[in-house]
Amino acid sequence: MARFIFVTGGVVSSLGKGLSSASLAYLLQSRGYKVRLRKLDPYLNVDPGTMSPFQHGEVFVTDDGAETDLDLGHYERFSGVSAKKSDNITTGKIYNDVLKNERKGKYLGKTVQVIPHITDRIKEFIKKDSFKEDFVICEIGGIVGDIESLPFVEAIRQFANDIGKKNTLFIHLTLVPYLRSSDEIKTKPTQHSVKELRSIGIQPDIIICRSERPIPLEHRKKISLFCNVDIKNVIETVDVKTIYEAPISFFKEKLDIQVLNYFKLKSKKPVNLNPWKKITKIILNTRNQINIAIIGKYVELKDAYKSLDEALTHGAIENNIKVNLIRIDSEKLKVSEIRSKLRNISGILIPGGFGKRGTDGKIEAIKYARLNKIPFLGICYGMQMAIIEFARNKLNIKKATSSEFDKKGIPFVGLINEWIKDGKIIKGTDKDLGGTMRLGSYEARLKENSIIKKIYGKNIIKERHRHRYEVNINYREKFEKNGMLFSGLSPDGVLPEIIELKNHPWFIGVQFHPEFKSRPLDPHPLFSSFIKASKNHK
Ligand code: GLN
Repeated sequence: MARFIFVTGGVVSSLGKGLSSASLAYLLQSRGYKVRLRKLDPYLNVDPGTMSPFQHGEVFVTDDGAETDLDLGHYERFSGVSAKKSDNITTGKIYNDVLKNERKGKYLGKTVQVIPHITDRIKEFIKKDSFKEDFVICEIGGIVGDIESLPFVEAIRQFANDIGKKNTLFIHLTLVPYLRSSDEIKTKPTQHSVKELRSIGIQPDIIICRSERPIPLEHRKKISLFCNVDIKNVIETVDVKTIYEAPISFFKEKLDIQVLNYFKLKSKKPVNLNPWKKITKIILNTRNQINIAIIGKYVELKDAYKSLDEALTHGAIENNIKVNLIRIDSEKLKVSEIRSKLRNISGILIPGGFGKRGTDGKIEAIKYARLNKIPFLGICYGMQMAIIEFARNKLNIKKATSSEFDKKGIPFVGLINEWIKDGKIIKGTDKDLGGTMRLGSYEARLKENSIIKKIYGKNIIKERHRHRYEVNINYREKFEKNGMLFSGLSPDGVLPEIIELKNHPWFIGVQFHPEFKSRPLDPHPLFSSFIKASKNHK
């Protein structure tokens, strides 16, 4: 049976529970163990799919089509293990399941309560299909003391009793602030947070102390004493210069060794930190830089395009260069300003998006990239906008549009059931895609002699999707005659997956989200190629 490691947070949020969990996963894997990562989110949304990126950051999509919290992206990037639907659960989903069962009469007339019905459902989820793993690391979202996270904390308390404390480890991540005015490090918030945790029945086994500066031994001793934790298990995590340093820093602090000691396990092989050291060195020492413009709607919140930012950084590492991501709000991008705003830009990227707002700015920027031969990557909505730009400005079909925001124009992009042929609805796959999202991993076939095929070096690729609208295949011939190739299609040839321009150094649009599959130790070829082209353009 797997051993379970629960990671809770205290004092404030955003301390890096996700990154700590992901780094621990890497270290345990590197020592020869099989690890799985899970996230339990306390909010009431059934999944993060409908949450605004402004509020909650990016929605991360798994191979099996789940819309999940962005922390699952960190997990995948650090551990290399592809997350599944069953790796992210929210309070909303738990309640939804329990209430559905109640309506079906499954509780046989009993009063349905948080304990045991909600907590039982949480425990079922924690354990679900985890038979092959040595460790399951479960991160509890939010911080201890929040009303919403209480059922989760209660469930993990019970869980430890159910499977035995020796198979369960509690890690608590807290803040140890430094007060500049008095030049002091303060342990009180940590003491209080642990007190809160203990009041609901959980004694942490390891405390990870996030701090701006190294924590002196006497302070660690104090935390150990007041929080009833072995001094060896009071671990500090001092702010790192790049997130890729995190596994190195936790290794130095012996987090993984303390975890193995707790479970009375031995390391099966030595940890390999070389890839992280190499990446950190490149990131911290590379002088050469290029500017990449990301033109989108959600530029104010940094986390809104988390995987994208990461994938671009991975591509840059591969090319031994640094990228400066210049975020431009598409809604504020005026036609008259395009030239000046994009003057020092080496590559233009239009990410995924929804709705009409900001489309004019995006289309103008694409036109600028196309005519001025600036490397361009359009992702999902970005590809759809590139299709509309080409139809309007090159094919001269001014009414070309997407039915997502204009029902009266010609739907070059639309719902698949809008293209009726011989009285029948054309279907791209087994599923009716009309009005529903195409989510998760789908295959695409790449055309011979295309740029995309050279980039991937394969005939068939699998990438993750998250969209409702599709590029209308019926205009393919017109596009291809005029220099825009549909270089990747769904296996049945109905859905355009990739477009590329012939007389342009690098102009590619993809209907999927390649950023979800890029990893620091295995950069995605599309991003490496885009950065390479942008570097050459400089
Ligand atoms: N809004 C577009 C669609 O639903 C694109 C979505 C996206 O970019 N992820 O098809």
